[in-house]
Amino acid sequence: MTNASPKANRAQTAHELVLRQRTFFRSGQTRDIAYRTEALKRLRRGIEEHRQQILDALRADLNKSEAEAFSSEIRLVLGELDYTLEHLEDWAAPRVVPTSSQIENATSTIRPEAYGLTLIIAPWNYPFQLAFSPLIGAIAAGNCAVVKPSELTPNVSKLTADLIRGCFQDEYIAAMEGEVETSTELLREKFDYIFFTGSTPVGKVVMRAAAEHLTPTTLELGGKSPAIVHKDANLRRAAQSLVRGKFLNAGQTCVAPDYLLVHEDVREELLREIKLEIADKYGEDVLENPDFPRIVNEKNFDRLNRFLNDGQTLLGGRALRERLAIEPTLLENIDWESPVMQEEIFGPILPVMTYTDSELNSVLEQIVDRPKPLAFYLFTRDEQLQNTVLDTVSFGGGCINETLLHMSSHELPFGGVGASGMGSYHGRQSFETFSHHKSVLNRRV
Ligand code: NAD
Repeated sequence: MTNASPKANRAQTAHELVLRQRTFFRSGQTRDIAYRTEALKRLRRGIEEHRQQILDALRADLNKSEAEAFSSEIRLVLGELDYTLEHLEDWAAPRVVPTSSQIENATSTIRPEAYGLTLIIAPWNYPFQLAFSPLIGAIAAGNCAVVKPSELTPNVSKLTADLIRGCFQDEYIAAMEGEVETSTELLREKFDYIFFTGSTPVGKVVMRAAAEHLTPTTLELGGKSPAIVHKDANLRRAAQSLVRGKFLNAGQTCVAPDYLLVHEDVREELLREIKLEIADKYGEDVLENPDFPRIVNEKNFDRLNRFLNDGQTLLGGRALRERLAIEPTLLENIDWESPVMQEEIFGPILPVMTYTDSELNSVLEQIVDRPKPLAFYLFTRDEQLQNTVLDTVSFGGGCINETLLHMSSHELPFGGVGASGMGSYHGRQSFETFSHHKSVLNRRV
């Protein structure tokens, strides 16, 4: 077979891997809770042993500082592992439920069972967390898994493959590195569950491929997540939270506030607080801050650079292509039709629009008219307004008087709705997502 092209080899490998995993899954070993627990513990040890390599890879690929990389990637994964290990036995136990009164002499049980072979496709922005966090759910539920890391963060991709290879035999858990072609080849195979994190257009590609095999799918996608700051908000706290949420990972965060709507009465003060907070957190000249993350590649840098000419620059606006660095930037004189409002920004650029009391309803209508966002942030102490907004706007998840934190709570399922995705995970929801719930009625005879 020396003449086989690399492409043919890789296709064969994907196919062979799936066949080997299918055989292994049918051996039944992964159904054993002790087996799953041991696998999760092995993964935990592997992560601890590779902690420095993970931090180095995140620095090399995205210039994440150790503090940011640890808190937004490693710590979340370790927390998810510990929480899962603590609760797995309970989640996996068959659940006896009442039987309808017209059926006599019977018991009813819901038995969580593993789907079988799962495919996890990860993006580049939190390349460690978004590959390993879903993997925890897949293992906990008793599945085999193939992880496809993003090619845009090559150091983390290689580390992911090495770590997985060091912890598991590939007929159980494997990583396949590669570009779009590799994803495409994997998607041709029959998996029993697909968990995809990435952009909305690629989500459609994944769903089309999944339809061929009727494979159930979770899609964790993106979108434009609004932040509204009302006139009664605690402006200092709102500014701190917005700066943290927007500029973490240089804005390359799926749940980052994409744009800001501020009540005109508090616009000046909020913007003053935001500027102070940026200087306090990142220094007066962020381009000189060695720890501010960079833009992932030139294509994304050029896309973001075009937005810098939109509206008028209130703060920042400088960009260095040779370092793929863009400083935190606030834009004003933006309206709903501006170019920066037509796509997910995914960078350190925050467009600011204002509203008056009488315009609040039309602002909410504008949001509702657009694709459903992944996240939504509202800053107000007015409970009536909180309820009005929560009743009016559909979004994946979000916070009142905070940003981002809904995604780090184990008790809150995390996911999108409409164009921002379908399905959810984290905590128990990850176990549920990767399990089929088999309903059984048992008649006593
Ligand atoms: P992407 O969709 O370009 O790529 C994601 C993965 O899909 C990568 O592994 C890539 O190799 C693969 N891929 C790319 N094109 C493909 C194709 N045509 N067919 C099959 N596979 C393909 O996304 P990205 O640029 O890596 O990530 C950014 C996007 O992800 C943003 O929209 C962001 O909002 C979203 N995101 C969502 C979440 C979430 O949890 N909802 C988390 C992070 C990122």
